[in-house]
Amino acid sequence: MLVVMEQGATEEQIQNVIDRLVELDFNVHRSTGVVHTVLGGVGPEEAVDPVQFEMMDGVKHCQRIMSPYKLASRGFNPAGTVIEQGRLSVGGEKVALMAGPCSVESRDQILRCAEIVANAGAAVLRAGAFKPRTSPYSFQGLGEEGLVMLREAADAHGLLVISEVMDASQVGLIAAHADILQVGARNMQNYNLLKELSKLRKPVLLKRGLAATVEEWLLSAEYILSGGNYSVMLCERGIRTFESSTRHTMDISAIPVVKKLSHLPVVADPSHGTGRRDHVTPMARAAVAAGADGLLVEVHPDPDRALSDGAQSLRPEQFSELVEQLRMIAAAVGRTL
Ligand code: PEP
Ligand code: MN
Repeated sequence: MLVVMEQGATEEQIQNVIDRLVELDFNVHRSTGVVHTVLGGVGPEEAVDPVQFEMMDGVKHCQRIMSPYKLASRGFNPAGTVIEQGRLSVGGEKVALMAGPCSVESRDQILRCAEIVANAGAAVLRAGAFKPRTSPYSFQGLGEEGLVMLREAADAHGLLVISEVMDASQVGLIAAHADILQVGARNMQNYNLLKELSKLRKPVLLKRGLAATVEEWLLSAEYILSGGNYSVMLCERGIRTFESSTRHTMDISAIPVVKKLSHLPVVADPSHGTGRRDHVTPMARAAVAAGADGLLVEVHPDPDRALSDGAQSLRPEQFSELVEQLRMIAAAVGRTL
């Protein structure tokens, strides 16, 4: 149930609505917008007539939430969610740039990466310390040692850190070192992990599963929101289709689709989306033009020797060039970079 309060509704009126929702067995989530406060009630919607809320003082409008996801739906925060973490803001006017290697490989490598992406204008350093690899014989990441190197490198260049969490048991460890926790495509439906992340009060970047529909993806986001962690950004990273000329099929159309259905910021990852560095730049440009709130891009000082995902990692000069192009595209769609 979505209850939109009048502009200027008093705290007492808001509390009366919350109390009534609770009485009727709803779990109440509050979204305080610039103009309206919206109360999202998750509970026995079918059994309750929205009109009874519309009759209450201070209520502008009340309706049932028809989508299976409730708190992720656009109506819960019509103006759109802006996630603020330190100097970073995702979902506002500025397009957020997150870049770095697929994996932390060594202290020297990650320090070089941090310098490269910071100089090019990125705000967040990305790199995995725990890697979900298709083969158990591939490089699995440096673990906690890698997280320490990642933090040091980011701090040396004034960057925030995003890194992948693969399992519920790792949430505390990753959160101790990273500013944003990434849920990988393979874990989009790891519900124990999502429930653990719902208790966290740090932003989560939720990648779309390899074969997930937009609705399944939003329902996964709902797991995190329903526990009270409202800082969720969604990341389109390509889906598996019959097409084999790219590693995955980058679903650019998912960006405007999700932005219409949900208030959550949308980030695009053209590196995993295409799997080839020659296709990363055009897809990154397309994503910003399509309304992405941020980009997650793999960049490596020596991609040919990368321990993971070298083929899709941009060379430093390619990344700087991309950023310059993105400035123009962002301006053309009313954004900044
Ligand atoms: C990654 O970002 O390096 C990664 C493993 O991504 P995905 O989960 O999208 O494959
Ligand atoms: Mn990767």
